[in-house]
Amino acid sequence: MAKVNNWQLKREMEYPYEEVKPKKQIAYVFDTNKCIACQTCTVACKTTWTAGKGEETIFFNNVETKPYGGYPQKWDLNTLKELDDQQWDGKGVYKGSTIFENTAPGERVKGWRPPERNYAFPNIGEDEVMGTMEKGAFFNGIHDTWMFYLARICNHCSYPACLAACPRKAIYKRDEDGIVLIDQSRCRGYKECVKACPYKKTFFNMVTRVSEKCIGCYPLIEKGEQPRCVTTCIGKIRMQGFMEDAKEPRKDNPIDMIVRIRKIALPLYSQYGTQPNVYYVPPIHVPFDFLHQMFGPTVEETIRIYKNMKDDKELLAAFMLFGNTNKIIHSYRAEENHAVGFNEIGDEIVRVPYVEPVFKRPHWDEQLQTFHHNTP
Ligand code: SF4
Ligand code: SF4
Repeated sequence: MAKVNNWQLKREMEYPYEEVKPKKQIAYVFDTNKCIACQTCTVACKTTWTAGKGEETIFFNNVETKPYGGYPQKWDLNTLKELDDQQWDGKGVYKGSTIFENTAPGERVKGWRPPERNYAFPNIGEDEVMGTMEKGAFFNGIHDTWMFYLARICNHCSYPACLAACPRKAIYKRDEDGIVLIDQSRCRGYKECVKACPYKKTFFNMVTRVSEKCIGCYPLIEKGEQPRCVTTCIGKIRMQGFMEDAKEPRKDNPIDMIVRIRKIALPLYSQYGTQPNVYYVPPIHVPFDFLHQMFGPTVEETIRIYKNMKDDKELLAAFMLFGNTNKIIHSYRAEENHAVGFNEIGDEIVRVPYVEPVFKRPHWDEQLQTFHHNTP
């Protein structure tokens, strides 16, 4: 095992291969507070990439209701059981072991392969809340009964467990953008990746007898466009871009600003050790003990900053750009009244006002000689 640096754990860890950094690393921010579980992203992805034979239970993108939902069922609980004491010290250093450490002799990754039945009910637990609702209850502000929606895709991890476990070396991480892909002509369907990925984002196709996973919509990425699940998102909860080298976050890169500078989007179960590249703004209404295990020890501070975002124009501007262009935003600027995004060569591609302008039309339209009935 090689020693690699995991910035999310603030320590070195063991990994089967030496550290290799791609030229650019694809990264996403998902704001869980805005997701409405409409599943548009799920359907957009499914109809684009996995509508074929043997792909009936393959969801590169899924949205599950926490705490009870999960696809495949109990994916997170079963991998968390593999880890020993998941403790962080006062400085945010992870003290427990990852899925690459304390492995049995001959084992590269601690994993769990879900039985087929766990793929049978993709919407199990949907909209089920934690706690009991009294008969006749109505919404009355923050209360003890809670749930939230967790949108999930492959994390295009910096230390992919799927890649580490593949005995055929059929899985690789692209140098140009960090997207993790399976070479299906090399795959022999041993399902080691299915067992190893702690997020259960590789899938076995029963018809072709080889594994499949999210391809990060790389044909779109290569055209400078964001993936399908991002651009179709009804709640505008998602942004895809690229992370700079972890040591040098760039203030004008919206992903860097949110993840590395203000630190208000956090990796999911970073204790697994794969250094995932999907970052979540945690839900603001969920008990912290639940969120600690999911998003790490800084979750309270993260939520505090998020709630005060209106006073932080640079951060606010980065969030205003979510869902407002299908192009990849490489840099941005917070202007007096607008958030402005630019492409790789510095051309302006999106301009969003902080305050939605209001246009009032007169009740009687002189030009058309008609009444507008939708005006106050
Ligand atoms: S989320 Fe799973 S499938 Fe995706 S790169 Fe990480 S380990 Fe591999
Ligand atoms: S499209 Fe967006 S809002 Fe709808 S379920 Fe997917 S992530 Fe959530």
